[in-house]
Amino acid sequence: MIGAKNSNENLLPRRAIVLGAGVVGVATAYSLARRGVQVTIIDRADIAGNGASFANGAQLSYIYTDALASNSLLKQLPMLVLGRDSAFRLRPSLDPSQIAWLMRFIRNCTRQRYLENSLEGLQLGLESQLAMRALLENHTIEFGHQSPGKMLVYDDAAAFKAACEMVSVRQSHGATQEILTPQEAVNKEAALAERAGSFVGAVYSPQEELGDPHKFCNALLSQLVTAYGVQVRMATDVQSWKADKDMTVVLTKAGEAIACDHLVICAGMDAATLLKKQGFGSSLMPMKGYSFTAAPGPASPKMSITDISRKTVFCPLNGAIRVAGIAELGARSTKIDPRQLASLVSTASGVLPHAADYAGSYQSWAGIRPMTANALPIIRKVAPRVTINIGHGMLGWTYAMGSAERAARLMGEV
Ligand SMILES: Cc1cc2nc3c(=O)[nH]c(=O)nc-3n(C[C@H](O)[C@H](O)[C@H](O)COP(=O)(O)OP(=O)(O)OC[C@H]3O[C@@H](n4cnc5c(N)ncnc54)[C@H](O)[C@@H]3O)c2cc1C
Repeated sequence: MIGAKNSNENLLPRRAIVLGAGVVGVATAYSLARRGVQVTIIDRADIAGNGASFANGAQLSYIYTDALASNSLLKQLPMLVLGRDSAFRLRPSLDPSQIAWLMRFIRNCTRQRYLENSLEGLQLGLESQLAMRALLENHTIEFGHQSPGKMLVYDDAAAFKAACEMVSVRQSHGATQEILTPQEAVNKEAALAERAGSFVGAVYSPQEELGDPHKFCNALLSQLVTAYGVQVRMATDVQSWKADKDMTVVLTKAGEAIACDHLVICAGMDAATLLKKQGFGSSLMPMKGYSFTAAPGPASPKMSITDISRKTVFCPLNGAIRVAGIAELGARSTKIDPRQLASLVSTASGVLPHAADYAGSYQSWAGIRPMTANALPIIRKVAPRVTINIGHGMLGWTYAMGSAERAARLMGEV
């Protein structure tokens, strides 16, 4: 596990640049600034959290960290390539880096690797939960944070049986989860009443939390500026970087050279380009997804609900309902395809017809999940003065705080 060696805060750099002001970058800036490092955070956007962290599913899914690569997904791959699943597609490409990623992904589809990757995710999720708690004990940050728990709803008996086996594995690793009958699930979450009879069982995780990632990025960033003197340079597009044993220099597209003692790259999907020379060109695969945020309906859930078969998540957020879903592996553009968005709205209204005001106006969004083949982030030193914290895939909001702590500990390692 990263962070297991001796970590010595005296070895931390004096001045660091954090490249990227998404959830991972802002959390990383916090973990360094609170250890006394002078941090400058750089992003090409005008506002923090405008990339993949903008309007994601809002789940702080500390317990449900199951890896994407699994034996059951492997069996569905031909169907996904043919586009037979409206929620999950694989866009085949002859791009050698995508082929290399897919080969690694397939190697992660064994039962053993799925278990290892999911449990490593659980460990990071639990670390993130602790780090988030510690942050909120020290700072007041308004981001619609709640801890209502989460319900995973199954309508396929075989998938539910496999999920029940994972519950005991997770319980033996410190997680609290309950297996519920449909009636027990309805008793806990009344919004499921309109689905009663159409699902075989549910898994309830009382430890799961939620919050608005975009608000989090901006609220934490303003605390970083006022409480820790962090410098913020938005609208600064980074072209490349170079590092030697004495310093690292970041080169912007506008021709500026910005020096620091250590660079931490938290650039989401774009990290693959910035790290091509270091051999990370094929480490990340884009996986596009959609969300819409609507007014709540008459049977709006009070906790997060994930419909496992339809890969759709419902989340009560800031007095509204956010619905997220769709996975297009290999799709890079963040442009909203109206057909895909309509398909998400239609799926959601079929699953929970009265959870949201589907007929009213809503805010829609598409973003790119930076996926690694094993669904775990890459937190590593790639040069003596450069660390990367990238590849958080489907769970970047969940993993941000724990990954940030791991990155800061790694930077202080002997
Ligand atoms: C539809 C959808 C639903 C999701 N739901 C959830 C969920 O419910 N829970 C969860 O935990 N995760 C969820 N995720 C995943 C999560 O949103 C991502 O993993 C996370 O936002 C990644 O954060 P990041 O900081 O690494 O990347 P980003 O938020 O993309 O931030 C990277 C930043 O780096 C900047 N940048 C990149 N390159 C440069 C450069 N060269 N120069 C300057 N700046 C640069 C970008 O402008 C950007 O601001 C979801 C994702 C999607 C798409």
